[in-house]
Amino acid sequence: MSQADSATPTPAPTAPTTKDMKDIVALCKRRGFIFQASDIYDGINGFWDFGPLGTELKNNIRDLWWKAMVKCPPIGPDGNPVRIVGLDSAIIQNPKVWVASGHVSGFSDPMTDCRETKKRYRADHIYLLMLREGTIDINGKPARAFAFLQDATNDEVEKRLKKLNVPNKIIGDNNDISDVLVRTSLQNVPLNEIVAPDAKAPGSLTEPRAFNLLFETHAGAIQSEENKTYLRGETAQGIFINYKNIVDSSRVRIPFGIAQVGKAFRNEVNPRNFIFRSREFEQMEMEWFCHPDDADMWFDFWMEERKKWWLSIGVGGDDIIFRKHDVDELVFYSKKTFDVEYRFPFTAPDFGELEGIAYRADYDLTQHQKHSGTKMEYMDPDDNTKRYLPHVIEPAAGLTRGVLAVLCEAYTIDPNRPSGMYMNFHPNVAPIKAAILPLMAKDGQPEIAQKLYMELREDYMVELDIKQNIGKRYARQDEIGTPFCFTIDNDTASDNSVTVRHRNSMKQERIALDNVKNFMRENMAKMAR
Ligand code: ATP
Repeated sequence: MSQADSATPTPAPTAPTTKDMKDIVALCKRRGFIFQASDIYDGINGFWDFGPLGTELKNNIRDLWWKAMVKCPPIGPDGNPVRIVGLDSAIIQNPKVWVASGHVSGFSDPMTDCRETKKRYRADHIYLLMLREGTIDINGKPARAFAFLQDATNDEVEKRLKKLNVPNKIIGDNNDISDVLVRTSLQNVPLNEIVAPDAKAPGSLTEPRAFNLLFETHAGAIQSEENKTYLRGETAQGIFINYKNIVDSSRVRIPFGIAQVGKAFRNEVNPRNFIFRSREFEQMEMEWFCHPDDADMWFDFWMEERKKWWLSIGVGGDDIIFRKHDVDELVFYSKKTFDVEYRFPFTAPDFGELEGIAYRADYDLTQHQKHSGTKMEYMDPDDNTKRYLPHVIEPAAGLTRGVLAVLCEAYTIDPNRPSGMYMNFHPNVAPIKAAILPLMAKDGQPEIAQKLYMELREDYMVELDIKQNIGKRYARQDEIGTPFCFTIDNDTASDNSVTVRHRNSMKQERIALDNVKNFMRENMAKMAR
């Protein structure tokens, strides 16, 4: 047989029919993308470990961002390539940094606890279904509103109201919340008349209070107030506090950027939705320093560039939007901000933030100048009587959320495959670019496969997989999103050819063994277009 075995596999009985988070999370664990941190100890809420394929995927996304920012940044509006330099600052800095940035006093979320279930919520993540008039009896107490988390589905709402014995005339038919109930937020109803999410009776929520998101620790042997430090809540501040060092030590001139990728830590009240909101995550942030008069032009420029970049890793089309912040949503120092948002399965039909592009003016440099006493003004190199504080445009993206968007976007239902799905990764981010599969583990096939593997691995992340039925091996490569499989069979030794299987079409074609490298080069580029 010269073609690789292509017997049409029957879909597994549990084949998915919709893009469901449960299936995506299960796939991530089964195939080694992402595990719950401390899994063997029942996990730890808000922390995740990246397995071999997840690490590869994350590194690919990170490296492509670094390339687009630092190694090969775009051509600017004036026709010249823009200049961005890299930085890798410490996670723990002098705590004064976080006082100056406003994180110590202001980096907080309103938090409320449920005395009945002992669960903790972000008050602004709770919405209420409130009775238009009067109260009803819920487990012996008058209730006026039912609390839900912002991503609760209609189904979940209806089920819970039924469980609480809310009369049918209030719930309405066909999953419709009747017009007896209106949606509102927490502050509009007295707490003693609200039934908390998962609670059985009203009145269990505590008054919301500010909860600082910075993780505290101590530097040194003594755990005193003077030794208190913080794990960084964002990578951006590391850039601002090194701005002067970089201007003084590198040959950068305004406008220029400083980019950093790294871990950030936030003690989120309610980590949820897989890796979307975690307590330890990675950010990719770039601070663009420019003359105040040019800030609007650069803002528009970076918006366009960021759009192109997300598209270049396969996140585009109708599932991504650029949403302008309303005036009342803007932090006080920001003149304008756009959020790049993606339609995650758990936010659909709405969107969740992937990246914020903010015009921060000179807020951060002014703050650090004031608190540190170090002058941050920039001296115009052509006119040293001119000094000014540069303005800043900040595209701040989540690497961890980027991985999640890429995973969700790639997850493709296809009932004609054994797993009922495949991962349609953009070739630039696919963790494994090609698999080499000898049809049989005998007759010299593994040796030819090994030789091809040794050749390809110099240029690509490739996998050699020798044993198991070929259908199962293809199924695995589909699930991990490998763009190409090369199958060595009995004829390969005599006719010097292999079968290529294309991931998306499942089409197979025969090509010369010597041509595999060329094939990869051409087809990876074709796929990336
Ligand atoms: P959110 O409103 O979702 O809490 P944010 O506006 O506070 O996010 P920024 O401070 O602008 O987020 O951080 C920049 C990026 O860092 C976000 O767009 C997001 O991708 C990522 N990010 C922020 N918080 C988390 C988190 N807890 N887990 C994972 N990624 C996060």
